[in-house]
Parts: sequence; structure tokens; C-alpha cells
Amino acid sequence: MDDIAKELITAADSSDFRSYPKEEALCDSCLGRLFGRVGTGFTNAERGKAIRESLDVQREGPCSLCSGLMDEIPKFARLVESALSEFEFDTFLIGSRTDQDIVEKEETLWSDFRLERAEPIKAEINRETGKIVEASTGKDVDFERPNIMAILDTRFDFVQLQVNPLFTHGRYKKLKRGIPQTRWPCRECLGKGCERCNNTGKMYETSVEEIVAAPFIERTGGIGVSFHGMGREDVDALMLGDGRPFVLEVKEPKRRTVDFRAIEEEVNASGLVSVDGLRPSDRREMVQMKEARLDKTYSLRVTFQEPVEKENLNEVVRSFKGTEVAQRTPTRVLHRRADLLRRRKILEMDVTPLGSNTAEIVLTAEAGTYVKELVSGDRGRTTPSLSGLLGVPAAVDELDVIRIHESE
Ligand SMILES: [Zn+2]
Ligand SMILES: [Zn+2]
Repeated sequence: MDDIAKELITAADSSDFRSYPKEEALCDSCLGRLFGRVGTGFTNAERGKAIRESLDVQREGPCSLCSGLMDEIPKFARLVESALSEFEFDTFLIGSRTDQDIVEKEETLWSDFRLERAEPIKAEINRETGKIVEASTGKDVDFERPNIMAILDTRFDFVQLQVNPLFTHGRYKKLKRGIPQTRWPCRECLGKGCERCNNTGKMYETSVEEIVAAPFIERTGGIGVSFHGMGREDVDALMLGDGRPFVLEVKEPKRRTVDFRAIEEEVNASGLVSVDGLRPSDRREMVQMKEARLDKTYSLRVTFQEPVEKENLNEVVRSFKGTEVAQRTPTRVLHRRADLLRRRKILEMDVTPLGSNTAEIVLTAEAGTYVKELVSGDRGRTTPSLSGLLGVPAAVDELDVIRIHESE
């Protein structure tokens, strides 16, 4: 303590603090905080005690800087604890709002007395409150990515919580057609409910998102979700193979520990969608996943309007391998997307004729290829196309995603 006292007095003497009016009382915390960046391992109250006599600063009476606010820290800690009590968390961080008066008063002191190693009052409130809450809850302060941020308003004894989302990574398969990946609001009423949507507010009865989210909402007490898929398949396409990676974001969860196995079982019991490999994730992985552009392998059932010769079909299909196709935005999505031209590469393409009018095609293409249009040609908007090269109208009856190529 003697060493720190000497260091503090040296710091005071290199400022104008000796001329601080003796009758203006300062509490230990406020006095110490004016030299809060001198030495480490001490509280500001300890700093204040160590130098009070040497600097001859009045302790009696209300503190002229904080008016007693610093004595209320144990009460603030109790407010934070009570706000946090509803939530499960491992890490937290405290922020605060205080009287602007106090902040201005303290900044005036710094400049009037040339105090260059002072600490702002909010920093001390946050840290000292945090220490008490750490001790009482056994949880840790995390400055980078806390589960919960508690904003303490010392003017109104009010705590506002920012509860960070819970992220879970997994893979899903879609086993029935006619299910969109995410909840699709009714186009007519935009979700309010109308005749067209039978008052559901939705275009489709359910979605992969809703089926996966339900057990999460139930178990975490969250208020909503965002479903982030690594791309998406068409509503009428199945998602098979190893499934499609996704990250589910649950907003404002009350509980963060969930039984992934039980959730998988519950989703899989739907018979519409199945999930596996559920594990904790984070925002970074979610962002990376959304940006990933991965090749995909599809299996298609194709019908030709006229019989096609096997040899001819084989030859045309083979010619696609390694070619780039030019695709203008498909007619079927023009109402919601800009009319653009994109070029995508077809990496693999194989055909198995099933009759003179039908065939199964398995193809691997770059992310973002419009597969249905690659077959139909979309009235010349996609070139080359299977239909164009054969000279016979062709259409996709069934489309399944059978593999997403995650590492290339
Ligand atoms: Zn004070
Ligand atoms: Zn509607």
C-alpha cells in the first residue's frame, strides 16, 4: 500500500490537484478514480483511502461529485441479479447510463486540475457491479461476446437486458414436396390472414423452419427464430442425401442448455423433415455459412413431349459437362427478382432413360444454377438447354437435391 500511495502522490503532484478546494468533499471512490489509472490491482476506493490524508481532501458530508451514487453499487448489483434471474447464461457484461451532470462534473475536474490518469465513473460502476454479480452468480464477465448484456440505468434503478441469440448448427432433409424452407407469408394479406390463406397468413401450411423451430421455442422459451440455410431448394424439391446445413437462431432464449437428441427425435417424428448433427454454433459460423457458394448434385425426373432417341439423348447430356450456361432470371421468379443474366458451370451430367419419353438425370452444378430452366430452356432465356439442344420440349417433373458439396 505504501508504494501505491507514493505513486498516487507523485501523480497528484504532477497535476494541479493540490489546489483542489479542501471543503469540497469527495468519497473514497471518486477521489481514487481521479487517479484511477495509476497502479493496478487496487479499487478506486483503496486508492482514495491511500492518498486522502496526504492530499487533505474532505470525506465528511455528501460527495460533491457523485452525491453518494458510488455507495449504491451493492444495490445496483442486486437489481442486475434480479433481472438476470429468469435467464440461463454463462457470461454477461454490464453497461450503464448515469446522470449527465456527474459525467460533466467529472470531466470538468479532469481539465481544471490537469488530471491525466483518471477513470470515467461508468467504467467503475460497470466493473464493481460486475464483480459482485460474478461472485453471487458464479458466472463470468465477457467483454467480447457475452450471453447477456445488462444495461443499468442508475437514474431510475432500472436494468434493461440484451439477451444474445442461441445459435444451433445442424443438417436437414426434406422428405415431402410442397414445403418451403422458411415461413412464407401470404402474398395477398402479407400475413394478416385472409380468405386465400384460410386465415393462416401463410402461403404454405408449414415450413422446414417452423418444424425445426417448434421444439426449440418450447425448450428455450425464446421469442422467435431466424432460420439460416446454406442456400435453399425449391418448394417442390426434396432435400435428400446428407441433408442441407443450417443454423437456427433462437431470439432471447431463457434457457440455453437443450437436449439435442430429444429435439432431433421430435422433428424426425414429423415425417416431413428430419434433422441430425445438432450442435452449438455462433454468429460467425452463421455468417460464413450464408456466404458459402457450394456446388450441388441434383436428381431430376424429366419428361419429353416427344420420344427421344437414346443415343441422341446421351450425346446431348454428355456435351453439358464442363459447359457454362447463360441464364436470365426464370419467368417463374421474375415477379420477385430482378431480370439479370447469370452464367453457371455444369460440372457433371448423366442420364438414365426410363422410357422413350422420360429419363432420370443426375447433375452437379455450381451454386445458383436454375436447374429446371437448364432442362426446359425457359423459352430461350437459358442457353444452351437440354430442350434446345434436343429440339424437343422437356420439363422437370421431380427435382431432388441429393448432395451439397461442402469441401471442394
Ligand atoms: Zn463520490
Ligand atoms: Zn392471406
